[in-house]
Amino acid sequence: MRSIAACLLFVSTATLAAPAKLTPQWEATTREIYKTAVEMPTVAGRNQLPALANYLAEKLKGAGWAAADVHVLPYTSAPGNDTAALVARWPATGKTKAKPILILAHMDVVEALASDWDSDPFKLVEKDGYFYGRGSWDDKQGVVASMVALMKLRAAGFKPNRDIVLLYTGDEETMGKGASLGANDWRKWTDAEFALNADDGDGAVTSSGSSLGFALQTSEKTFQTYYFRVRNKGGHSSKPRPDNAIYQLADALKKLELHRFSPTLTETTRAYFTERAKQERDSALGRAMRTWLANPADAPAADAIEANELEVGKTRTRCVATMLKGGHADNALPQLAEATVNCRIMPGVAPKLVETELKQLVGSNVEIVADAAGGRPTPASPLRRDVIDAYTHAVHAIHPGVQIIPTMSTGATDGLEFRAIGIPVYGVNGAWGISPDDERAHGRDERLPVQALWDNVAHWEAMIRELAGK
Ligand SMILES: [Zn+2]
Repeated sequence: MRSIAACLLFVSTATLAAPAKLTPQWEATTREIYKTAVEMPTVAGRNQLPALANYLAEKLKGAGWAAADVHVLPYTSAPGNDTAALVARWPATGKTKAKPILILAHMDVVEALASDWDSDPFKLVEKDGYFYGRGSWDDKQGVVASMVALMKLRAAGFKPNRDIVLLYTGDEETMGKGASLGANDWRKWTDAEFALNADDGDGAVTSSGSSLGFALQTSEKTFQTYYFRVRNKGGHSSKPRPDNAIYQLADALKKLELHRFSPTLTETTRAYFTERAKQERDSALGRAMRTWLANPADAPAADAIEANELEVGKTRTRCVATMLKGGHADNALPQLAEATVNCRIMPGVAPKLVETELKQLVGSNVEIVADAAGGRPTPASPLRRDVIDAYTHAVHAIHPGVQIIPTMSTGATDGLEFRAIGIPVYGVNGAWGISPDDERAHGRDERLPVQALWDNVAHWEAMIRELAGK
């Protein structure tokens, strides 16, 4: 999943000044691989992932990768969804002490119906400066740009000073099992000092061409659902009891509505709000941001920030009631009332701590059970100077002077599985689009500016030169 709205509001006067130029041959290679990838309907249940993984594997072998370094790894994501991942290693030239760099992207896409689209979603259409097709943005451009960048570097005789490993997964949009296998079962291939994720990052511009900045994603909130349950003996509705499961649950939910977790600043959100405060200047929002940055315990200041629609969930853990059920007959007292409460927990905070706080809040009459499919806490990745510099330099080579904004996602990508095992992950893709017109990932008529694909190849090439060169 991904969003280019991450850096909304960061309007600067910088414009797209130096679009990347690929040679006709590399442009043709990029277009051919991209077209083939988009035209394979790699949707859960359609069993197209092994074919795409094999196709990309053959391209890499043709470009100089040893067969022993390229692995197509079939796996079952869920019943009826047999998929595959691709792992490929470009070994360092000579001896090296540096641990590998891992590059992440995903090959699967969300379903799309031809009847909903202006054109067939599984045909790559080039029109008015755009590529249209399912996955044209999310995330086949990330797969193709990162892979072609490595092929291009290899052809140019680049000698990496550390191994560069690609992991392209096959079920990011559904179960995310490829990332979990990648971080655990396939660790012998994927172990790395840090990972660069082509499924996040990116830049946005306004329709008039002003830059809205480029995001550098370092962290994701943890997803955890809890069930609030109240049980009661029940009885005939003609004889109401003083205790009633629905009223007790309603009281607990009212407490939840009013409850605020303590605000917390992380390294990333401090950098984010520092940039935002500059943009907001002397507005009430800007003042609240400065007040909170000066004193992160200032809950009213954090409340004032979260009152702004774009900043919801960025100062603290948030929990909200999302579903409700209770009772079994209109003439019976309820024996069970249950609410579903979904929490988005700050990076690195154990869901158990949130559960304890919720239990203290609602008291012992309400049973709280954590959903077993809950997310693992994933720490925010540290703002590494080398990664920030490489990303900034690569972005600025094409978009001089635009802002780089560290971001914490409220959603999830494959990156969280690697953060969970201690490998920092950075969303540093180099595509861009017009906000909000081009924000169509998962939606109809998904598209990518044609120039953004060429730019993204140059972007990955520049980052790898800096991070794995001399
Ligand atoms: Zn994605």
